[in-house]
Amino acid sequence: MLPPATFLPEYDVAIVGAGPAGTACALALRGRGYRVILLDKAIFPRDKICGDAIPGPALKALRQLDPAYMEALWQLHPRDDVRRSRLVAPGGGSLYLHWKLPTFNSPRLNFDAALLALVRQHTTTEVRENAALKNVEITADCARLMLADGRQLTSRLVVGCDGAQSVVGRRLLPEPRLARAHHCAGVRAYFENVGGSESGTTEFFFSRSHLAGYLWLFPVGAGRYNVGLGMLSELVSQHKIDLRQLLLDNLATHPALAGRFAGARQLGPVRGFGLPIGGGRQRPASGARFLLCGDAASLIDPLQGHGIDLAIRSGILAAGQVSLCLEKQDFSAEFMARYDADLQQQLGPQLARSYRLMRLLGTRPWLMNVGVSLARLPGLGRWAQRLVG
Ligand SMILES: Cc1cc2nc3c(=O)[nH]c(=O)nc-3n(C[C@H](O)[C@H](O)[C@H](O)COP(=O)(O)OP(=O)(O)OC[C@H]3O[C@@H](n4cnc5c(N)ncnc54)[C@H](O)[C@@H]3O)c2cc1C
Repeated sequence: MLPPATFLPEYDVAIVGAGPAGTACALALRGRGYRVILLDKAIFPRDKICGDAIPGPALKALRQLDPAYMEALWQLHPRDDVRRSRLVAPGGGSLYLHWKLPTFNSPRLNFDAALLALVRQHTTTEVRENAALKNVEITADCARLMLADGRQLTSRLVVGCDGAQSVVGRRLLPEPRLARAHHCAGVRAYFENVGGSESGTTEFFFSRSHLAGYLWLFPVGAGRYNVGLGMLSELVSQHKIDLRQLLLDNLATHPALAGRFAGARQLGPVRGFGLPIGGGRQRPASGARFLLCGDAASLIDPLQGHGIDLAIRSGILAAGQVSLCLEKQDFSAEFMARYDADLQQQLGPQLARSYRLMRLLGTRPWLMNVGVSLARLPGLGRWAQRLVG
């Protein structure tokens, strides 16, 4: 009697979402000979609501994969190369922090399209745009992905890089209630003709009116600015805050911004999106035949709100786990849990420290004022820089 025919899934790896996490995962799988598909519901270039500040560790992680990736990204236009940040405390005192790692701001419309271009240029990944995942189920032999247009595909493994509203996460993990203590809401708009801004300097404004959050003003090149406001969702809902209105009110009335928006022109509407922050009791980021990365795994830094670097770093860690699974042909939840341990080891301490600091400073504006004053004393600036990251 013939042995039963073994079922061969069409792909070894299906990566859902071509943002920073998904593209980093595809880049990190380069050259390993796997059949990889990268799906995204959007057609690129696509916008992503963000502050557009590309953290230095994001570029560092990509450079470690291949220096050519970083070189290509430094050619991006528009772009504003960032050297320092100005923090303005609720009491009005300011502090400048100087960044060691080279970094820049660039609209996500361009940055994410450039990452996807790297995937196309450097890997054999099959890229499918306009392909929204609707459902995914895990069987004994594969992950079965159902797309919104009715098509289906099968893969040995699925990597959910589909952002804050991850379908992979919602379908494969028990659905949790939104934990507002571990979630921020953010809004942003683009402006031009903002007075008193300097290229190379990102600005953060803290105020009693938006505790556990901040207002940002980031130059993104070509004379444009990304201006936004983010806050812990717990406070937004407790105080019934209209973030869009609060942003516009602050641009007109915040003492440290006085007059700077008088001649400014707003380009497009104020748009908002959620930020699932890390540092709390994390849900698992894996299970049988699946892994979650980036926002899908709630990996945004709670203090500063950056997540592009953590998305990229988790995408690279996931690629390592994918390779191990394919090598050992082990797709069990127990084996996948090594990825959770890697995340915890590599990113956990930073996220936990940021979460504690955010809760501490966010509810005590006086502490922020004292911190900024102390950090201006000779020798203490470096301490503040290390604390903020
Ligand atoms: C207001 C705001 C400001 C922020 N500012 C910054 C900042 O300045 N710097 C910083 O580092 N981080 C910032 N962040 C966080 C940052 O945007 C995210 O952490 C980062 O984008 C996470 O990358 P990702 O690849 O996990 O997800 P995403 O970038 O969200 O990418 C997910 C991808 O999945 C696709 N997708 C979603 N659902 C499906 C589906 N069903 N099927 C197929 N594809 C799907 C989407 O189209 C998208 O391309 C900000 C976030 C917000 C909301």
